[in-house]
Amino acid sequence: MIDPVELGPFPGDEGYEAAAQLDQADPLADYAAAFVEGEPDLIYLDGNSLGRPPRATAARINDLLAEEWAGRLIRSWPEKWWTQADRIGGLIAELIGADPARVIVADSTSIVLFKLTLGALQARPERSRVITDDLNFPTDNYITDSAARLAGCSVETVGSDGINGPVDSIIAALDDDTALLTLSHVLFKSGYLYDMERLTAAAHDVGALVLWDLSHSVGAVPIDLQGCNADLAVGCTYKYLNGGPGSPAFLYVSEAVAGEVANPVTGWWGHANPFAFELDYTAAPSIHSFQTGTMPILSLAATEPGVRMTIEAGIDSIRKKSLGLSSYFIELAQRRLTPLGFALASPLDPARRGSHVSLRHPEGWPIVQAMVEDGKVIPDFREPDNIRFGMAPLYTSYLDLHSSVGRIARIVESERHRHYPSERSVIT
Ligand SMILES: *Cc1c(COP(=O)(O)O)cnc(C)c1O
Repeated sequence: MIDPVELGPFPGDEGYEAAAQLDQADPLADYAAAFVEGEPDLIYLDGNSLGRPPRATAARINDLLAEEWAGRLIRSWPEKWWTQADRIGGLIAELIGADPARVIVADSTSIVLFKLTLGALQARPERSRVITDDLNFPTDNYITDSAARLAGCSVETVGSDGINGPVDSIIAALDDDTALLTLSHVLFKSGYLYDMERLTAAAHDVGALVLWDLSHSVGAVPIDLQGCNADLAVGCTYKYLNGGPGSPAFLYVSEAVAGEVANPVTGWWGHANPFAFELDYTAAPSIHSFQTGTMPILSLAATEPGVRMTIEAGIDSIRKKSLGLSSYFIELAQRRLTPLGFALASPLDPARRGSHVSLRHPEGWPIVQAMVEDGKVIPDFREPDNIRFGMAPLYTSYLDLHSSVGRIARIVESERHRHYPSERSVIT
């Protein structure tokens, strides 16, 4: 029998006073109580992968079930549901610097990425190259490949140092045969944040279109799609927006390219006159044309409370706290965890950092298992040795980070992680 891991708080460990003071001065501190309470003592640092449930979500779903579904039945389609994705897209627009009429919720991130990628390539038929990097979330690469294949294009995956976006090499790779530059705004492993304005301008200089995946930045980082002249964007609602598992994605098509880029997956939901049930397709004269089929109304409704809470808290305050949290965490980890074999795998420069931080450790996988099972800290693990710590400013506190570092240090010092398998069994 091994002793349980001490869970803290650890007032004797360095950094405690600073954390307590930072929490006290935190203008967003009250938002933690707006989320459904979880397991006591558990510290959740994976909000960049699946956000926590807002309390308001349960009420919204119950209302929908009782009033809109049970009460109004099919009458709810015209009364409420048909335009819900447009309305929530319009709210998300506030968070991404977009005209509300140019954003809509639809499908999953993978699917909307496919639609916009193929749509962009069909808008540049005389060009044959797509540029991306080797740090993207793999589904983005798979989708880009499949869309490029259908459009007869080749994909060039620009190599990086494993942490930072390879900005200079990307700019060097752009040429007048490039149809599309497609990147994630914040990279899923390292948290590197691209300079959207600079890369968009570089792609436009050669006449290429640009598609940004905002999955790891929306709700955590201020985004100005219009100010950056971005053409196309997609993003996820179940990460920092707390929309719930599998909640639908959003997409943006700028006014400037609206006439050129069309939805290649045409379905009745994107039709100009869906209830005429005409045999021929005519695209709706709005962002609605990027929808395809019936929306998952329950999941869609669940995205609204998290989006509203984010708007109310204010993205600038959220960003300020996010950088406060990540800078505090990096500093403490460098002092306390570096001597135990951890190495920072995220940008040190706050201007180039999203809202999560990766630490590498050669025994990363057993450490993560001990953290979750014994230390009650949930981060996530990305192969081969990245432990990812997501800071969600609406509910992560400085003391959460202090306790987490204390628990991790105790686990590794006591070699408790050696009780766990070092090989990951892959779930299929
Ligand atoms: C989370 C995430 C996805 C998820 O795609 P799904 O279709 O929802 O599974 C895609 N791309 C990026 C960059 C992500 O961060």
